[in-house]
Amino acid sequence: MVTSKPHAILLASPGMGHIIPMVELGKRLLTHHAFHVTIFVVTTDSATTNSQILEQTSNLSSLNIVNVPPIDLSDKLPPNPPLAARIGLTIVESIPFLRSSITSIKDLSPPSALIVDMFGLPAIPMASELGMLTYVYFATSAWFSAVTVYFSAVDEKIMETHAESREPLLIPGCEPVRFEDTLEPFLSPGGELYEGYLQAAKDIVAADGILMNTWQDLEPSATKALRDNGILGRFTKGETYEIGPLVRTIEAKPEGGEKDAILRWLDRQPPESVIYVSFGSGGTMSENQMREIALGLELSQQRFVWVVRPPCEGDASGTFFNVSSGIDGTLSYLPEGFLGRTEGVGIVVPMWASQAQILEHPATGMFVTHCGWNSVLESVVNGVPMVAWPLYAEQKMNAFMLSEELGVAVRVKEEAGGVVGREQIAELMRRVMVDEEGVGMRSKVKELKLSGEKALCMFGSSHHSLCEIREACEVHLQ
Ligand code: UDP
Repeated sequence: MVTSKPHAILLASPGMGHIIPMVELGKRLLTHHAFHVTIFVVTTDSATTNSQILEQTSNLSSLNIVNVPPIDLSDKLPPNPPLAARIGLTIVESIPFLRSSITSIKDLSPPSALIVDMFGLPAIPMASELGMLTYVYFATSAWFSAVTVYFSAVDEKIMETHAESREPLLIPGCEPVRFEDTLEPFLSPGGELYEGYLQAAKDIVAADGILMNTWQDLEPSATKALRDNGILGRFTKGETYEIGPLVRTIEAKPEGGEKDAILRWLDRQPPESVIYVSFGSGGTMSENQMREIALGLELSQQRFVWVVRPPCEGDASGTFFNVSSGIDGTLSYLPEGFLGRTEGVGIVVPMWASQAQILEHPATGMFVTHCGWNSVLESVVNGVPMVAWPLYAEQKMNAFMLSEELGVAVRVKEEAGGVVGREQIAELMRRVMVDEEGVGMRSKVKELKLSGEKALCMFGSSHHSLCEIREACEVHLQ
């Protein structure tokens, strides 16, 4: 039935780190803001598995989810292309399907807005042609959003100075971005992704608005800088909206349903006694690094749940796991005897765990994280302090924010040879779990948890932002 409700089309790019925040935003628009919501999920080979996992773990029956048919890119890309190139081309090739699907929606109100993430930018011109409002959902910090907005009109000389003399990047109203925390391939002129990122930044500021998964108490200076349009007036078209914290919500299994074995194990552990270790939806490390983590866990003498993936080749200390290299279910890459020695004290989970549920379990006392933004928020909204171990993308900025600004994490220091040793790992774990320092971190992160709850409630900033977007869509429909 055609109604006058605004209808938001959400485009979720491949990868759980992209799909999860889009689905959560869709649920929020549907349940709290009376939107019609259609989510298009774009898949690459590996993401087909991702969307299956998503379906198994979330009750999505009320959302209209459309899987974009997988696209064969084998003759369009070189062998083993970078993940970003594969995702980008998949989106571009999906546009004809999106266009015909959107124009053929007849039984609901006509789509009024398209919401995309960073990878979905190529779909924006199509939505504008179809007369829709366009929003970019930055499933990351306001601070990194500010970097992107600033970068969209930057004088290249500023970026050259930053890259060559390693001076911090000074963005009005924001915490300086240290050279060692920036995204070198994106922000250094001549870097392989510089031009592409510059174009993306320009496309982002040309949209009708930027949605950010954050809230003022988490990032007072960056949200203010963006809200006041203080970033040198660069952001001319749309508004920025703080809509966080939107994190994964997993509906409880129906009464009598079987509970996950990890959760059953956690039920038997004392409160805040277990360290959860996981590096996002695809992070993995070298075999040497995994050995040190295993031995660090043992040395720390703490309980743990550790999500592992087969190690990457060579000495890379952190990278994205390539599914095509195969899944080794034997855990043979862990140190000899480790599983036996830690039986009863810890659990090693191959490939994937129900992270949101582990972090909200009262027995979980700390999270060793790669600082992907979803993971950061899932930890904060559950009041869990962290060991920040950034691997790629904007994660080093996130780690800086957590450890230096907010005081809710301790950060891993790089070591000679590129492998972080077991002694440092154990020491960081004990600082959070056992030492007085950890007590302070725990209380700070619990304050942030409360402020996040306020942002989401009826009079909070997140609710207010989404009401504003609804109003803009209603005006647009008239
Ligand atoms: N995740 C999960 N189980 C895992 C690994 C990851 O549920 O074993 C979820 C996690 O809860 C988060 C998302 O996958 O919602 C990862 O997003 P994040 O931004 O932290 O990192 P990315 O995967 O994008 O690097």
